[in-house]
Amino acid sequence: MSPWTGFAPPVASRAAGALVVALGLGACDRTPEAGLLDAVHARVPERVEVHEIASGTTFGQILWARGLEPSDHHNLLLAFGEQANPRRIRSGTEVHMRWRGDPERLARVEVGLDRDRTVHLERAGGGWRSSTVTIATTTDTLLAAGEIRSSLWTAVVSLAELESAPSADRDRVVARLDRVFQWQIDFSRQLRVGDSFRFAFERERRPDGSMRTGRLLAAELVNRGRSLYAIWFRPEGDDSGDWYDLEGQSVRRAFLKKPLRLAYISSRFTNRRFHPILRTWRAHRGVDYAADSGSPVEATGKGVIARREVSDSYGRFIDVRHANGYLTRYAHLRAWASGTAVASSVAQGQVIGYVGMTGMATGPHLHYEMHQGGRPIDPLAVDLPAGDPVPSADRERWRRERDKRLDLLLRLIGPETFRVQQAATGLNGGGR
Ligand SMILES: [Zn+2]
Repeated sequence: MSPWTGFAPPVASRAAGALVVALGLGACDRTPEAGLLDAVHARVPERVEVHEIASGTTFGQILWARGLEPSDHHNLLLAFGEQANPRRIRSGTEVHMRWRGDPERLARVEVGLDRDRTVHLERAGGGWRSSTVTIATTTDTLLAAGEIRSSLWTAVVSLAELESAPSADRDRVVARLDRVFQWQIDFSRQLRVGDSFRFAFERERRPDGSMRTGRLLAAELVNRGRSLYAIWFRPEGDDSGDWYDLEGQSVRRAFLKKPLRLAYISSRFTNRRFHPILRTWRAHRGVDYAADSGSPVEATGKGVIARREVSDSYGRFIDVRHANGYLTRYAHLRAWASGTAVASSVAQGQVIGYVGMTGMATGPHLHYEMHQGGRPIDPLAVDLPAGDPVPSADRERWRRERDKRLDLLLRLIGPETFRVQQAATGLNGGGR
């Protein structure tokens, strides 16, 4: 138990670059009122200094500069080391140092590890005691519905419900919707003005309102009068969960449609093609995607890295082996991503490299191949194998959870309401 729990939370004010906190001493039930204290008896029992770790300096150097005794300095770092590596604190991290007593002594130190965790160090006996405190988050469910006027992205980011959310969080919501529906609809070709959507998105939020984790619980996309559904469910023994249609069929396929988010096809799979560098007719047993150099390349399916090499024609390339005899290859990379050593497991959508023009390439692009049973196949023509449906043992629970999640959607206005509103306000597709 902390000997300092009798203090009210400090009230901070920033002055001359350093944060200085003055606090009255008192029991829990007595809130000190600074203005009423007799000047003679008023004392400042705690002084807080805030230091920022600049790049090139360490936590240890900051402590050293504050003139701690060598043994004290050593013990403090030792206690910190039980929670995190003191040499690996990112620059910009704030260190709060609380000084107390007369003569003044360092009593407490707080170091923010990241947005969610803070290491607390407290003087205990002759040494220091450390603990890691995780910030409290709140969970809410964002319910929203909208109509598409130009793109799904524009429609979602302009939702009033997302107005106060940081833009990175809005992007995460759109990316998730896009990911979930990518196999059922081609967003660039099939989406129409007047299509609508509604979704329930569960968020774990920090005190500043930003999202720590988020999960799309349920979504409906109405495309030309046809409803597409994606309901999240976690089968027993599965740690990430998946999305299913109302019948419990997976909306996911074993492979993503394309290994790049923003790219267009510059060359398709063919058995005969004129090669621009070799100036001969050669087969092109893959699909080329033109993209900016450095664009992240994603593994289209879950698997294991089978090869990671450099060759004259492919340049820097990487092969991923998947279940059922499938293999995918990604070539002309500028660089491989971390965590892609041979034999590493990769998840679907995991970034494995970056677009480049190594090997035989006239410009930055990704050459993507898919093989089955050792033979190259056309990734655009293959009927991508479906993800597993809800297991039969989980059906009962699935039906209950599906109905609850679907209910969240049905509470929102649906496509019929949009049409009525549109007629009433005389909207005619001119945008918001
Ligand atoms: Zn190619």
